[in-house]
Amino acid sequence: MALAERIAAIQEQIAQACLAAGRTTDSVRLLPMSKTQPIETILAARRSGLQTFGENRPQELAAKAIELADTDIKLCFVGHLQTNKARLVAQYATEFQALDSQRLAIELDRRCHAIGRQLDVLVQVNTSDESQKYGIQPADALGFARGIASCDALRVRGLMTLAINSDQRAVVERCFARLVEVQTQLQDATGSPWDELSMGMSGDFDLAIACGSTCVRIGTAIFGHRRGR
Ligand SMILES: *Cc1c(COP(=O)(O)O)cnc(C)c1O
Repeated sequence: MALAERIAAIQEQIAQACLAAGRTTDSVRLLPMSKTQPIETILAARRSGLQTFGENRPQELAAKAIELADTDIKLCFVGHLQTNKARLVAQYATEFQALDSQRLAIELDRRCHAIGRQLDVLVQVNTSDESQKYGIQPADALGFARGIASCDALRVRGLMTLAINSDQRAVVERCFARLVEVQTQLQDATGSPWDELSMGMSGDFDLAIACGSTCVRIGTAIFGHRRGR
């Protein structure tokens, strides 16, 4: 299948999952994860209607943003970010989906202020209890939210999670449900909407949509296997 057909097929599957869940198709956005893919592939996907792409390495984000500067393509950063690379995300990403430390929030906020911009942000929550995964613990979410509230260059829109990689749907579903629980708790306690839930990838996006995802991050199902860096 060609890229345009794979994109159309995924969009159709997203629409079907929305229908099955009694949700409107426009309640879920598709974030194609273009990490490791060359610029030509991103430009081809743009011709199929996609406009915002996900990257997970700061240097690659910056290099691609510079190459794409004269297009209308936007880049979203979804990966672990060290504080000393915050400048690159503040400068080159339109959105950051993996906020997981107060120090990083303060540095990103400072960098955004320095260049006079605001950044959409999602807080990453570790919903799988796997120690190798990044993200704050669900029990720490409210304290974390209060701690970053003063970072006024960061527009905190919601939450992101990576579910456990498992064939057992119930185990994956538990991760998604946990993210929704954290969202409800934050909504009740802060009065803010927290309406974005970034959850679901190539293997589990239909389940994520059934659980309330508003953003599915799809890599291999659109682009095929990732390239070496
Ligand atoms: C690469 C990536 C994805 C997409 O994974 P696929 O299984 O290839 O769809 C989703 N989320 C994050 C954070 C990623 O880095």
